[in-house]
Order: sequence, then C-alpha cells, then structure tokens
Amino acid sequence: MQGKQWIVVRCRACRICHGSNGNYKKCPHCGNVIGENAEIVSTVNSETELRMEVAIANTPEELRDTLRKKLQSTEALVQNSDPPAFTMAKWVHQSADENGEVTIHSVTTTIESKNTDIDPEDLISMAETQGMLLRIGKNRWTLLE
Ligand SMILES: [Zn+2]
Repeated sequence: MQGKQWIVVRCRACRICHGSNGNYKKCPHCGNVIGENAEIVSTVNSETELRMEVAIANTPEELRDTLRKKLQSTEALVQNSDPPAFTMAKWVHQSADENGEVTIHSVTTTIESKNTDIDPEDLISMAETQGMLLRIGKNRWTLLE
C-alpha cells in the first residue's frame, strides 16, 4: 500500500511511546485516551520502521545507537527467520505465566521443549521489536497483546 504512513505517539500520561496508524485511540500501556493533541514523535512509511522507531523512542537517548544496531540485526533475523516469526511469537505467548509475564528462564524452557537452537535473547528482542513485550525489570517482560 503506497503512501500509507504510521506515527509514533508518546502518551502524555505514562510517557511510553506506541505505534499508531493515525486513528487515535487508547494508550496500549496505561489506557489513557490519546487525543488529537498527542505528541507525535515521528512518522514512518512501513510497519517494520514503526516497530523500530517505537522501540527506539522508548529507550534512553544514550542507548539508542546501540539499540538501533541491534534492531537492524533483529529485523534481518525476523525476515529470514526459521522458524517463522509467527511461530516464535507463539512461543513467546507460551512462555508467559498467568500474569502475562515472561522471563529469560521461561523463554529458555519453551525453546528447549521445541528442540530448536534459537537464542532466547534473540527471541525476546524480536518480540520487543514487534511490540509484543515490554521490559518491566531485569530479565522480566510483560506481554502487551
Ligand atoms: Zn500511557
């Protein structure tokens, strides 16, 4: 679809950025209503770029260069991934506990049960890039969808 654009919006309530197709709704993180006066961080032309820009916008400035490099290599991983990205997304969901929390340990356990040699950290950074997971602590993430 040519000419389609996405925006990265910063929620005024929780200050976390998320991607939007321009239909302002609710913040996926805190539920605050995103109004017309929302702060638009950037505008991008593809969903891939959107995922990267959201992740970067949610990262402290001094870490952004490192993250950008990491995300670029993760995108390559997602695009050439075997198993495919949707399978990996399913594994992330399977690794979550009843509160929707994921840890390196739970992801490692899931991966081991699938008999694959994918790196748990790669799987988690893919999920972060895709906006599936939000880091909530050291080696702890929460499912966003
Ligand atoms: Zn919010």
